[in-house]
Amino acid sequence: MLPWQLLNDRNPEDLRGKMEKDKWKKELAESYRSVTDLPGNFKLLKVEEDYFKTGNDRFRLSVPIDYFNLACSNEDDPIRRQFMPQIGEQVTTPWEINDPLGENPHKVTERLIHRYRDRALFLASDTCAMYCRHCFRRDYLSTNPSPLNRVEIENAAKYLRSHSEIKELIISGGDPLMLDDSRLEELLTAFRNSRPDIVFRIASRMPVVLPSRITDSLSNLLSIFKPLFFITQFNHPKELAKSSRQAVSILVNNGIPVFNQAVLLRSVNDSVDVLAELFQELLRSSVKPYYLFQGDLASGTHHLRVSIIRGLEIMKELRTRISGLAMPVYAVDLPGGGGKIPLTESYIQKITDTEIIFKDLSGKEYSYPVES
Ligand code: SF4
Repeated sequence: MLPWQLLNDRNPEDLRGKMEKDKWKKELAESYRSVTDLPGNFKLLKVEEDYFKTGNDRFRLSVPIDYFNLACSNEDDPIRRQFMPQIGEQVTTPWEINDPLGENPHKVTERLIHRYRDRALFLASDTCAMYCRHCFRRDYLSTNPSPLNRVEIENAAKYLRSHSEIKELIISGGDPLMLDDSRLEELLTAFRNSRPDIVFRIASRMPVVLPSRITDSLSNLLSIFKPLFFITQFNHPKELAKSSRQAVSILVNNGIPVFNQAVLLRSVNDSVDVLAELFQELLRSSVKPYYLFQGDLASGTHHLRVSIIRGLEIMKELRTRISGLAMPVYAVDLPGGGGKIPLTESYIQKITDTEIIFKDLSGKEYSYPVES
């Protein structure tokens, strides 16, 4: 058969489907990946210019064009602050560290972390479509750029097989949806075969930063591996653009529950009005606001953190404004491997001028700076 005959025989519906399916790869390839990629009319703010002047690009810039286009020129623009580095990133305060959640000591295979008895975390990818300036795994993402390989999948599957106390597997990264569908299928199949009973959680920011990644074929693939929950991270109502709402609805319409884990960020969403709108709009899109996280003590993120005291005030007022269904749990991952605790008064032992003392369920005390 001649090549033109092959082309003529191809079903146009199939071609359209394939183009739709691969649109995200094209958009990803076209992302802005350095300051020199940014459009000429995008004027750097002083705080951004000062960051690049240092010559120390601690955590690379990468932003898909559609997400970039949601931003404006204002220094306090909530979108811009999430993808553009500022001079504040060059500062590491005394309480900031590279592994703020204390995950490294709990690594049981190359990519599997087993910190809580009933849950494990698999780091499926070392890259993301966008590098969020507040990311607590920024050190990991800056130092471990290597593609996932079969041996790493097999080693994790083997560990899961011999640890029946693990009931849930969180597949994260980086962003696990940087893997294409066939790699994802290989991964999920290996884990499902090793543990038919395990519950999957896919943690991905793709619905927010590269919504074209959420295709019908991806959604169909994920739905084969139920029980499976999709966890995403919308931090501001502006991020709920039409394409992002559509991405979420593809999952929801396929019976995949979607939850949101927002991060409390200075000059992004540290306002009752912004958070009330965000959580109510998420509910309208059938996404349950699950957690609002206190920013972790990751190096170079001080300028984006909000104090816990302010966070508690915001939550108190939010409770009078929105329904229980729209309310997430305000939580902190205690520094030094203390784990996640809800930020309620019962966990707070003492507040001094400089620190807040928490007690975990075992009675152990942890200190968190007041001015974080
Ligand atoms: S998508 Fe997640 S892992 Fe990637 S940079 Fe953002 S917060 Fe970090």
